Parts: sequence; C-alpha cells; structure tokens
Amino acid sequence: REAEAWEARFAEARTRDGHRVEVASNLGNTAHAADAVERGAEGVGLLRTEFLFMAHAREPDLETQVAEYHEALEALDGRPLVARTLDVGGDKPLPYWPLPQEANPFLGLRGIRLSLTRPEVLETQLRALLMAAVGRPLRIMLPMVKDVAEFRAARAILDRLLDEIPEAERTTDLQLGVMIEVPSCALLAPSLAAEVDFFSVGTNDLTQYTLAIDRDHPELSAQADGLHPAVLRLIEMTVAAAHAQGKWVGVCGELASEPTAVPVLVGLGVDELSVSARQVPLVKARLREFDLDEARAQAELALAQATGEAVRDALEAR
Ligand code: PEP
Ligand code: MG
Repeated sequence: REAEAWEARFAEARTRDGHRVEVASNLGNTAHAADAVERGAEGVGLLRTEFLFMAHAREPDLETQVAEYHEALEALDGRPLVARTLDVGGDKPLPYWPLPQEANPFLGLRGIRLSLTRPEVLETQLRALLMAAVGRPLRIMLPMVKDVAEFRAARAILDRLLDEIPEAERTTDLQLGVMIEVPSCALLAPSLAAEVDFFSVGTNDLTQYTLAIDRDHPELSAQADGLHPAVLRLIEMTVAAAHAQGKWVGVCGELASEPTAVPVLVGLGVDELSVSARQVPLVKARLREFDLDEARAQAELALAQATGEAVRDALEAR
C-alpha cells in the first residue's frame, strides 16, 4: 500500500466521491521545501519560521530572512506557502531575546503576544516575507492569537508595510490568517472569520489548552488527545464560522496525519491538511479510501461522544 501511495503522490487527493482536500506539508526549514514537493505536497501549510531565528546567534537581518523565504518560494514554484510568524516563548526560548521568568510559560509571553511586545522584529519578518514573495502567492499566519484584537494589531503593521510598497512590487496573492490554538479563538470564530482570510487549526496547542494538559507532560501527554470531543467541537465551530464567511480552514497539528482522524476532520469540513513531508503520500492515500457521507457520519459519531476514549472506541467499532 505504501508503494501505491508513493506512485499516486502527485495526484490531487479526493475522497471516493470526488471531494477535494488539499494536502500540504509542514516545514521546519526552508531547505526542505524541494523535498516536500517531491513527496507530493501541494504547498506548505505551516512554515515554522522559528528555526531561522534559533539557528542564529542573534536576530537574522532582513537580507538573511529574504534569502531563506525566497528559497522556499522558489522550490514551491507557485504553490502556496503559509509562513507562520515567529512563534517563540513558552517551551521555545530564544537566547538573544531574554524573557522574564514565568511560573507558567505556556500561559505567558509566547507567539503573537510576544511579537507584539517587539513590533520591530515582527515588522522585519513581515517585510522580508513580502520582499521574498514578489509575484508569488503568500499566506501569512499568526500563532497563538486569542481574539480579534491581536489579529488587528498585527494586521495594522502589515497594512503599514503594504502602503510603502508600490503595487507592482507586491505579492500577487496575499492572505493573512490566524492559527486556532487557543480555545477562545474557536469560541469567538465568527468575529475573527469576518476579518481573516483563513484559519489553520494547531491541534497540538488547541488540545493542550482545551484539556489543560501540557503537550509534553511525561505522564499526562498521552491523554492530550486531539480526537477528544471537546477539541472536535471547537474545530466544528471554527469551520462553521469560516465557511459562513467564505474562508478556508486547514489543520496543521499532529492530528491531521492520524489515519483515524483524517475522515473525522474531512467530515467536520476541513479544507486542507498540513502534515510532515513524509506523511503526504499516506494522507493522500487515506483521503481516497472513504466518501464524504461516511466522513460526515464519522464526525457526527465522534461529536456525540463524551470522552476521547469513547470517540476512539466508537470509530473503531464502526
Ligand atoms: C500546533 O500547535 O498544533 C502547531 C501546529 O504549532 P506547533 O506544534 O509548532 O506549536
Ligand atoms: Mg502551536
């Protein structure tokens, strides 16, 4: 089956009855973009740009960043790139960006909250992305957003930059979206959906914050199940709000590559799955195994359960 999946890796992924779901790759390094394309990725659904900041002894300057982002865009050759702005803090420290000692770093200064404390760093990154993407599609994604105010603050910075760039030198197709990683964002999805271009659900953090279980906890992390019905309900709310406004929704957390979860996510209406490059052919093959009605039935079944375990049991029994 693996050989078959590999053979078919460049074909679009459609359910048996023809419902298209995009399969993109998560990337931790722009140098791996060509490999992702070779494995059948239809784009990059999550570029974790922190690799670039962690690989240097100080903040990478504009030119360094432009060169890095350009490398990925070149390799993608017109396929979409979703670049996530710097997502450090919490469990990901930056040596040259000292943070206050916090009792609960996962609940502290991280992601967009941290970026907004030093807007000049965010501004340089956004400028580099815009410069690298001239004539190419670019999607920028903000991590750890908790409500529309943070989105607006970041968008104001981006809008100011765009005003400086002559129209002929802008990217042809720019989207600005937010990650759904904090439950408040899913609960308030209608207010965000009115202003963003897309959502991408980060199920790793969304699960951590919904179930109040540290995603890396040595004893508890096994219980941090993205198929927990509480997490699935938040995804359902997110998709409903997005689709009501004509916006698309991806999933870029680990859940997107789980064979059991794939039909559930499709049944919930997710439009794109972004997974590690290695998983792309397998996820495409998985999508070809069921039809949309079956996916919807599985999503309904999962949503009706009371615990993560019950979801897994019910799906397996089916
Ligand atoms: C997530 O939280 O699901 C996610 C994709 O982001 P990261 O794993 O980089 O925190
Ligand atoms: Mg995350």
